[in-house]
Amino acid sequence: MPLPEQARRVAQLPPYLFVEVTRKINEKRARGEDVISLAIGDPDLPSPPHIISALVTSLEDVANHRYPESDGLPAFRRSVADWYKKRFGVEFDPDTEVLPTIGSKEGIAHIAWCYLDQGDIALVPDPGYPVYSVGTMLAGGESYYMPLHRETGFLPDLDAIPEDVARKAKLLWINYPNNPTAAVAELDFYERVVEFAKKYDIVVCHDGPYTEVAFDGYKPVSFMQVDGAKDVGIEFHSLSKSYNMTGWRIGMTVGNAEVTNALMRIKSNVDSGVFQAVQLAGIAALEGPQDTINHHNAVYQARRDKLIPVLRKMGLEVDPPKASLYVWAKLPDGALSGDFASRLIEEANVVVTPGRGYGEAGEGYIRCSLTVGDDALDRALERLSNVNVSDLL
Ligand SMILES: *Cc1c(COP(=O)(O)O)cnc(C)c1O
Repeated sequence: MPLPEQARRVAQLPPYLFVEVTRKINEKRARGEDVISLAIGDPDLPSPPHIISALVTSLEDVANHRYPESDGLPAFRRSVADWYKKRFGVEFDPDTEVLPTIGSKEGIAHIAWCYLDQGDIALVPDPGYPVYSVGTMLAGGESYYMPLHRETGFLPDLDAIPEDVARKAKLLWINYPNNPTAAVAELDFYERVVEFAKKYDIVVCHDGPYTEVAFDGYKPVSFMQVDGAKDVGIEFHSLSKSYNMTGWRIGMTVGNAEVTNALMRIKSNVDSGVFQAVQLAGIAALEGPQDTINHHNAVYQARRDKLIPVLRKMGLEVDPPKASLYVWAKLPDGALSGDFASRLIEEANVVVTPGRGYGEAGEGYIRCSLTVGDDALDRALERLSNVNVSDLL
């Protein structure tokens, strides 16, 4: 019996970009070849032990085995508010301006349902984290892409957005420290964002999971630090990258109470919140010792400093990142990132992410992640040192 045709939104999902690459990697690995992936943005270092202990203890309490409340444990929301106050000097009402998410990806996908009706516009960075545009599409909205260029520090040019598009737009996505470009934003940019959002009545969604992953003593700022941010939007944050907890699925939003409430209402109808034991472990993460953050950052920084000279020797252009888990490198003019990445697997058994996978404006770049173990990274660098880009093009 034939099944009915799937909904158009399924067909509209972007093809899984790495099907071909994954097939190639698996084939090579099956032949016993040592394929090293610099394409994965998932911290390799373990979650800190005091957070694991907090989870184990919380697991043994049967009270935590039941459905959590959709808006989370008051104690978790309070601990998020305290952390923001301590880290960024911004205050939030834990009852109305903070919401836990099942990892920020979940919240990012669902916020579109709060503001986008059929045909409504979301302003989305290109290159960008794919969930902004996918969430928009699933909600029936349209993405208007804002290209990010190296010449302008990979910040969108808000003045270049046509007036009629800005008037129709309901959501604006920004993300700093940025994935994939590793660019950072300062408060003056966020001030311009608030001004733009107020002028056109747009909800700003700032995605900031990398504010704690930074190098050389640099401290990224929060969008929420600028005057008026809370009038126009919310910030998505996550314990995933700060505390190496990607698999635990816990994140949070802070900001405008009306936006927070809309997201809570959508979420309470489609999910039942974050496992309480994980929320209690999240409290341990936010309130416990923060020294692992510096330790992890030192490890990523050392990897960054080994990787960049090798990429440059290959003939790529790199601006050393101040933050994030990535190095974004520019190929020689005219080179296609997909072709380059496939040849690199063939030639060196090293996998990088083609920039085109993050949008049209990502073409001509590759992303290397700093989350591969040091031994594997050394082997990868050894091989890359013997590659000349012109032989791959
Ligand atoms: C990793 C990442 C996230 C979210 O991760 P979660 O594990 O879902 O919290 C969100 N945005 C960007 C840009 C990311 O790179």
